[in-house]
Amino acid sequence: MVNHSRTQARLGDHVTHLMQCRRCPRMQSTPISGGVVVSDIMLIGQAPGPREPVLQRPFAHTAGRTLFQLCRCFPGKTPSGGDRVPAPDEIHNCSSWMDEEIKILRPRLIIPVGRLAIAQFINCPKLDEVIGRKFRVERAQHRFDLIPLPHPSGASPWPKIPPGKGLTERALRKIALHPTIADLVDRDRRAPKLTSIARSP
Ligand code: SF4
Repeated sequence: MVNHSRTQARLGDHVTHLMQCRRCPRMQSTPISGGVVVSDIMLIGQAPGPREPVLQRPFAHTAGRTLFQLCRCFPGKTPSGGDRVPAPDEIHNCSSWMDEEIKILRPRLIIPVGRLAIAQFINCPKLDEVIGRKFRVERAQHRFDLIPLPHPSGASPWPKIPPGKGLTERALRKIALHPTIADLVDRDRRAPKLTSIARSP
């Protein structure tokens, strides 16, 4: 469990500095941040999409709760119209921001989404070899559980057909059964009671 107020203050300073970052000249937006969200769980995606610079929050167009990106700026479009995959130098530039966030948050569970994100933590020659499994990983002098997920974009059929479908379901079950999720659900359950106690005369 993180020391919430101290961690929140450190994360606030970190986000302030992150928002001023201009290391990657090919990026098409300035950094996107979901704000100061203290959590035991980090979901790691690839890069923001085109709508997120407008709405100024990651995963704005989908249902993400707490998301950290390999690259914090929108990379722009390819000539064929798809989202440009961040280049290795851009991922490298941004890795210090991610490492700093891991040091501050000390998450118990990291969920990398998609091959590019997974490969920042473990060897990922094929999704079949890593999806559905839990790994114990060390990064930024911190040890945590890692449960990878495939990218949910409609461009890849892998999560919808065997063996990807079954492996993805297995990975989601592992996430659902992870103790951090139970703690999160427990905190959510108790939150309304604490609110009503605080409001009572
Ligand atoms: S992608 Fe990361 S390192 Fe590059 S400019 Fe954006 S915040 Fe900075």
